[in-house]
Formats: sequence, C-alpha cells, structure tokens
Amino acid sequence: MSAVLKVADGQVIEMDYTLRVDGAIIDASSEHGPIEFIQGKGNIIPGLEKALYGMTVGESKDVVVLAGDAYGEKDSQAYMEVPRNQFPVDIPMESGTQMELHDEAGQPMVARIDRVGETSVWLDFNHPLAGKELHFAVKIAGLRPATQQELDHGHVHSGHDH
Ligand code: ZN
Repeated sequence: MSAVLKVADGQVIEMDYTLRVDGAIIDASSEHGPIEFIQGKGNIIPGLEKALYGMTVGESKDVVVLAGDAYGEKDSQAYMEVPRNQFPVDIPMESGTQMELHDEAGQPMVARIDRVGETSVWLDFNHPLAGKELHFAVKIAGLRPATQQELDHGHVHSGHDH
C-alpha cells in the first residue's frame, strides 16, 4: 500500500486559491496560476498555513483568517496629519486614494488617504489588509517533498538554482 501524501512541514504545496475581503475577490490563482510554497517555513500568512495541515491533493477548504493571524490589526500610531497644501494638485483628495511617499531617508512608503479635513489630510500607513478578515477558498493542486536545498533556502526552487 502506498502512503497518501498530506500537507505537512517540509512539503512543497501547489495551491489554487481565491481570496475574498469584505465580500469582494481581491486575488485569485485563476488569474496568475497556483502558488507554490514550503509548508512550515512561513512562506504564507500564518493563519492560512495552520489550516492546511493534513489536506491531500484535490481537497478543497474554506478558511477564514482573522486579522491577527493575517496582516495584523490596524496600528493606531500609523496615521499622520499633513497640511492639505502639501499635496500636488493632481492627487484626488478623497478617502482611499493611495500614494507613494518617501521618508527622510528616501525610503518609499505607501499611504492611503484616511480622511480629508478643511485644512488637513490624515494619511494611513497601515497595510491595506490590516484589520481585515481574509476569506480563502483553497484547493491543493500538488504535493511533493521539498529538496534539501529548498529546505536550506526556505523557499521553492522551480527549475532554477539560486
Ligand atoms: Zn533558493
């Protein structure tokens, strides 16, 4: 009798998935193909990785990941008030507008407008998915043991060494 492969640490998982947030699909493997990762290496968000243990090829599952096990809760310190007149005129002054800024060291940072006041704009530097519950529909498309080199590197090699 041959053992059925199950999702376990050190297995390379090929997985199809659809990710819904607030009822809308925001990412799906039908658009770019399945993802590949090594189970147990933290390659994917912890709450999803935890839910996959023991699954077999062809098996599907709906997984709800709370914010704390995904991108974290919103950090109330990650907001900044900026005078309205400091923004270029071509940036729409409305909630949700995303922009790239640079800090004093020249590092790029992504921010979204949280709210707009008479003279000030409040920027939100949280990850766009912070505070969000993630609804995954996943299907295991393939399983194989990771090679020693993949385990050493902590990521999947598909056809190339690095
Ligand atoms: Zn590598």
